[in-house]
Amino acid sequence: MKTQIVVVGGGAGGLELVRRLGAKLGRDDFDVILLERNTTHIWKPLLHEVAAGSLDANLDEVGYRSHGHRWCYRFFYGSLEGIDRAARQVIVAPVLDEDGTELIGRHRIRYDYLVIAIGAISNDFGTPGAREHCLFLDDRDQADRFRQKLLNHCLRVSRTLSENPTSDAKVEIAIVGGGATGVELAAELYNAAAGLRHYGLEVFDESRLKVTLIEAGPRILPMLPEKLAQAAKEELEVLGVRVLTGTAVVEVTAGAMRTKSGETIPADLKVWAAGVRAPEILREIGGLETTRGNQLVVKPTLQTTRDDRIFAIGDCCYFLPDGAKNPVPPRAQAAHQMATTAYRNILALFAQRELEPFVYRDKGSLVSLSRYSTVGSLMGNLIGGRMAIEGRLARMVYLSLYRLHLISIHGWLKGMALIVIGHVNRVVRPRLKLH
Ligand SMILES: Cc1cc2nc3c(=O)[nH]c(=O)nc-3n(C[C@H](O)[C@H](O)[C@H](O)COP(=O)(O)OP(=O)(O)OC[C@H]3O[C@@H](n4cnc5c(N)ncnc54)[C@H](O)[C@@H]3O)c2cc1C
Repeated sequence: MKTQIVVVGGGAGGLELVRRLGAKLGRDDFDVILLERNTTHIWKPLLHEVAAGSLDANLDEVGYRSHGHRWCYRFFYGSLEGIDRAARQVIVAPVLDEDGTELIGRHRIRYDYLVIAIGAISNDFGTPGAREHCLFLDDRDQADRFRQKLLNHCLRVSRTLSENPTSDAKVEIAIVGGGATGVELAAELYNAAAGLRHYGLEVFDESRLKVTLIEAGPRILPMLPEKLAQAAKEELEVLGVRVLTGTAVVEVTAGAMRTKSGETIPADLKVWAAGVRAPEILREIGGLETTRGNQLVVKPTLQTTRDDRIFAIGDCCYFLPDGAKNPVPPRAQAAHQMATTAYRNILALFAQRELEPFVYRDKGSLVSLSRYSTVGSLMGNLIGGRMAIEGRLARMVYLSLYRLHLISIHGWLKGMALIVIGHVNRVVRPRLKLH
């Protein structure tokens, strides 16, 4: 029997890991398997652009089957449901087709080594009405749903304006969460709205958007220095966004959000982009140690605390470095760095070498306010600490993050080719995805 390495979740961390393992180990003595509940991958930090329509996910998605063929891993379509540690098997939920008919029954996949990389979802903290009435930006389907609803409301307002040019009809959007996702989405909406008049909604423009960004903490973008967060806030306000800080949402209804201070914020579209927790499925999975937010607790080697054969990487794991006050944050750069350590440690296990500890290197944070501005801070030994950046340089670094992801999942040659194709697409394709 071949040694079987199963990686669950083909996102920022998992996809890079299976590519490297497949390329290194090949198919002769090893079987590298990716279990993933979607058939294609889209880099999660692009989801706000998919939601606003300024990025066509069909052009940027990666099909797991062809990618697996190229990089010598096998792709299994399905959703993790449980782990039977005694039998060393993962349990895969029944696969259903669109109308709910069972295509493949519940089944099991044997593993010698298992890596859980299933990411995280937003945390609505049990706020009444949030699950029922809010849209979340946790995956491609949700981003697509948001875009469709946004277009429908823009069409409605545009129609009203055509019939009555003096109408003050607006598309009202409330976004909970002043972190990078909420801030980037708010700015991207104005960019998209500004483009709609070129695509048949002649009377519609960005002045017809009414966006409210609601943050419970004392300021937006807590991961950035205060000066930069203030600059981002001012930029949002210039665009027309109403930014509320120190404001907790206590209830969401079909047509509004209600705050703790008693204000009712009417909204056609309500987005929840706050908080992070790992998927419910991980709660006590296989008897492994988890946190209250369902994250799997890992040792410095990224092995789970109760089973050396099971690793966890990316947003779904909880790792508190020695002496640190906070755990490694749920970021794409952390998932990427963890994929590298997990890759080295799995190879070390085969070679019976000592495993290396994971060391998180914070390279800084960047927040894109669409085409209007980019702000952020870079950190690292190269620049000797922390450096605030804005404008063109920040934009270039921001764009390079996705390019690095492309190279890490496709290799240099294809990665560079895709970057060039991306530039060509920007010239030849429509600015907005409207279908
Ligand atoms: C809108 C948005 C913007 C962001 N912007 C930034 C940014 O600018 N910079 C940054 O560093 N980070 C950003 N992040 C965070 C970043 O995307 C995550 O930290 C990163 O993607 C985590 O990687 P991961 O591999 O742990 O999980 P993910 O990339 O989320 O991948 C998880 C994978 O697991 C699959 N999966 C989930 N459940 C199951 C299951 N039960 N069975 C099988 N498969 C499953 C999912 O389909 C997915 O493919 C952003 C996130 C969002 C939502």
